[in-house]
Amino acid sequence: MLRELYQTIYPHVCYGCSADLAKTECWLCSICKSNLPITHFHRYTSNPVFQLFAGRVPLIQASSYYLFIKESAVQHLLHALKYKNVSNLGVAIGEWYAEELRNDGAYNSIDTIIPIPLHKSKLQKRGYNQSEMFAKGLSKQLNKPVNNSSVVRAMATSTQTRKNRIERWGNVEFVFRVEEDDTLINKHILLVDDVITTGATLEACANQILKIQGTSISIATIAFAKI
Ligand SMILES: [Zn+2]
Repeated sequence: MLRELYQTIYPHVCYGCSADLAKTECWLCSICKSNLPITHFHRYTSNPVFQLFAGRVPLIQASSYYLFIKESAVQHLLHALKYKNVSNLGVAIGEWYAEELRNDGAYNSIDTIIPIPLHKSKLQKRGYNQSEMFAKGLSKQLNKPVNNSSVVRAMATSTQTRKNRIERWGNVEFVFRVEEDDTLINKHILLVDDVITTGATLEACANQILKIQGTSISIATIAFAKI
């Protein structure tokens, strides 16, 4: 347990391949870091993430940082972020991604960043929202605020089965609730999540936000899983 705690505070083992880290390395060894499947989707308007939402929800921009590949360093990173209590890893990934986005001038018209909220029961269990950690990293480097109070997850939809069922029923509008205040009026919102699979969660949340006057939405996630 102490070893795990020490690893959380001072990661000395690569989260991608478990090799020992050099003093200059953090989170990932240089080999894993240079082999990460970075998509560069943000450089192209019509990329696979953007296309996934075509006809479902109008977006300004959409992209994912990595391709999700099973048994890869990306899967190991996401696993650590979600299940190993390594919340700061999400902040680090957000900062890495934001550096790329900033260099390419992507997402520079956004006003605020909203992480997909967890249901309060899940937040209590995990102790943090992994998407919010990612949002914090983006926020630091893009210099845009995080809003984690306007959108509430009113229904727990934790498992994939549940997600698919909700999507199949088309009964998605009750999953998220947007607080009725003026905070989001006329804002371009960057909605962020950890992984995109079917896109049903992001779609449901985006459609709720778009009911507010003058809002527009862009999407960014850590990884994109082809289905
Ligand atoms: Zn490694």
